[in-house]
Amino acid sequence: MSENLCRLCNAKATLQNSHILPAFVFRWIRESSGGGHLRGGVTPNLRVQDGPKRYWLCVDCEGLFSRTETNFANRVFYPYTSDSSSRITYGEWLLRFCVSVSWRVLQFYKEEIPLNSIGPDAAARITEAEGSWKAFLLGQRPHPGHFRQHLLPIDANAIQSIAIHSTRFSQDLSPNLNRYLMRMTDMELCDSKAASFVYSKIGRFVILGFIRQERPNQWQGSRVHLRTGLIEPRNYKLPSGFLDYLNVRARMVAELLAGISPSQVKKIDEARRANVENYVGSDEFLSMLHDLRMFGEAAFTRDDLPEEGG
Ligand SMILES: [Zn+2]
Repeated sequence: MSENLCRLCNAKATLQNSHILPAFVFRWIRESSGGGHLRGGVTPNLRVQDGPKRYWLCVDCEGLFSRTETNFANRVFYPYTSDSSSRITYGEWLLRFCVSVSWRVLQFYKEEIPLNSIGPDAAARITEAEGSWKAFLLGQRPHPGHFRQHLLPIDANAIQSIAIHSTRFSQDLSPNLNRYLMRMTDMELCDSKAASFVYSKIGRFVILGFIRQERPNQWQGSRVHLRTGLIEPRNYKLPSGFLDYLNVRARMVAELLAGISPSQVKKIDEARRANVENYVGSDEFLSMLHDLRMFGEAAFTRDDLPEEGG
């Protein structure tokens, strides 16, 4: 393979093909699905299955990212996923991890969306945020400046609270809200009146890398500190507009999943039936139960699909 410039350190090197969102999340989704997950070839939406990969990083930068990923996976992701009442003290690696994810997602959108399509002010801010995150990751600056990172852990209680406080859409909550918030991956570059941020969702965690934040005091409890901090059960204060945003993302994913073909649905159902002992008790089953409790039959959105050949 030919050599190219590493997107992070700019060295000329043979670049590695790596996930934009961390690979361990996709392993976790497969391993905790009880055998009923969507397999290769059944990918209505890459974000749900095995997110995009890019040849971006040299071996050294890949190693830099994988060390922070291991820390996050072992010290935060798995402990919280198995017990959301855990109290977790984090070190400097958490901010590095969050910045590395936000940087990758921002890099993805920079390459996907022509920056001149989003207006000069927004483009300049994006370039500045990307530069700050990159310099921080390379150890060239001590902190990422005002391009802050927020980490939001989500468990069943948080979902109840989101459902209650997302008042504008309370009649219109997405019937997969629990499955989306507990298990799925998603990413977006969001630019609204109130804020611009990079949104990354991995299992029960949302990472926000802020590019612009009009009213930072509307966000309390979720900011990732430079040196150390505590992840523990607490009341996060978030703008209601953001809770609506989560619901809208959940609905978008539900609609994409509903668009898969009836033969694919059949395959998934067969896989699930063949693995029913593994499925019952799996994390995927648990998230489905939460949706059934909250939404009743509406949780079975696939029932709306036409019969194959019909
Ligand atoms: Zn590099």
